[in-house]
Amino acid sequence: MTHPTFILNGEARDTGTLGTLPLMDPATETEIAQIPKAGRAEAIEAARLAAEGFAEWSAVSPFERGKILRAAAAIMREQADAAAADMTREQGKPLAQARGEWMISADTLDWCAEEGRRTYGRLVPSRTENMTWAVHQRPVGPVAAFTPWNFPAFTVMQKLAPALAAGCSVVLKPAEETPMTAWRICRALLDAGLPPKAIGLIWGDPAEISDTLIKAPEIRKISLTGSIRVGRLLASAAGHELKKVTMELGGHAPVIVARDADLSQLVPLAAEWKFRNAGQVCVSPTRFLVEAPLYDDFVSGMAEAAGKITVGNGADPKTAMGPLTTPAQMTKVQELYDDAVSKGARVAAGGARIGNQGWFFAPTVLADMTADMRAMNEEPFGPLALVAKVEDIDAALAEANRMPVGLASYAFTGDSLTRHRIVSGIKAGMLGVNHFALAMPETPFGGVLDSGMGSEGGMEGIGAYLTPFLVTARES
Ligand code: NAD
Repeated sequence: MTHPTFILNGEARDTGTLGTLPLMDPATETEIAQIPKAGRAEAIEAARLAAEGFAEWSAVSPFERGKILRAAAAIMREQADAAAADMTREQGKPLAQARGEWMISADTLDWCAEEGRRTYGRLVPSRTENMTWAVHQRPVGPVAAFTPWNFPAFTVMQKLAPALAAGCSVVLKPAEETPMTAWRICRALLDAGLPPKAIGLIWGDPAEISDTLIKAPEIRKISLTGSIRVGRLLASAAGHELKKVTMELGGHAPVIVARDADLSQLVPLAAEWKFRNAGQVCVSPTRFLVEAPLYDDFVSGMAEAAGKITVGNGADPKTAMGPLTTPAQMTKVQELYDDAVSKGARVAAGGARIGNQGWFFAPTVLADMTADMRAMNEEPFGPLALVAKVEDIDAALAEANRMPVGLASYAFTGDSLTRHRIVSGIKAGMLGVNHFALAMPETPFGGVLDSGMGSEGGMEGIGAYLTPFLVTARES
């Protein structure tokens, strides 16, 4: 593949003031390319350009903005095969998953292009006869966006699409591990006619770039998808500068399996969604809390399903699960696994690195998990299915709500009363009942507690890039 470059003022820039970084293929541990590394100087330049880009882009009508965004979505769809191949190479996920992610990202752009035309204000009845009170919706200003490597297209698009549709300009700093996918998205937008200064793309030293962008007077909104650790850092810095934030952070999703659940339906779904993207998913089903009567059958079913998953290079069409994306993830997963086993977890499937080239870890099922184990308290972000036995739904809810995070949650039951108890008792931003699909362009996506602030997707997604502007006028 051609290697990605920074994009500043619509132009490719292949040198960085901090030198270069290696871009790695996690399936082979080989270097794909040396890519430029940016720092403070590029961030200052990007913020200045974004201010000029904001003046230009916010003056374009939502109708015309929508046309450009839809044209970019069409370009993305034409490039789906090449983009999926690049994403698989830098991130590791199987080609079909990469292609699916790319296509839903194009759908997100379409949705936001249309939603931009519906950013209605309102007329408020005034207290006196000769006054009108009108609330307009205005774009918040230039945005600094920071994204992770696990969904290198979707997490980028969840920010770019609503921000651009609202009329904001954006400086994007994707994860250093996956800049190629971000570069392709920015190129599609520019090729579709986005004004060159409306989007800037840099990466390099994350702390130096984020510090500079957050302090830059031109930047008015900070949006991060990433870990709780980095969320605290960026939200604190943004708070000091009195800048708006959206924080999409980590989770530790519980799956409540009620005694009436249909295991023949649940087990294949659970294995598919647990090991999707090697478990590196913020809404990955993580803690399976299974009522006692189904516990043994669930563990053996999951173990059998995990054992059948084909692990390999994502570029091979037969592969169902690719490698972990970074060596740090491999170390983390191994540590959590070792800790759980040392405290009494039962290994029902997997449990070891596969081979010695590429960061492959076997699809793993750990049974008899207890709350004192690290994996039950830290987001594994890897292919570990953690299974614990619960005596009843109250115990399941207590365990589900035990942690200070609340992003996704799931429940499997056909009983309407059980479902009602879970819907009203669970502390989370999202709940999937009898399935695992949560991220759609049309619906809000976000967490409560330490899982973040604000939502992306749906009408809430674009609302995060708008601010009300009140005009009160005396008519005579
Ligand atoms: P991360 O927090 O390490 O990185 C996210 C972004 O922050 C990247 O761009 C990274 O370069 C940057 N960053 C890293 N260290 C920084 C620092 N010291 N200062 C400033 N910026 C810094 O997260 P990750 O490992 O790339 O992604 C995994 C995490 O993201 C998981 O916790 C996962 O749950 C979360 N996530 C959340 C969502 C969601 O929508 N809620 C979606 C995907 C991933």
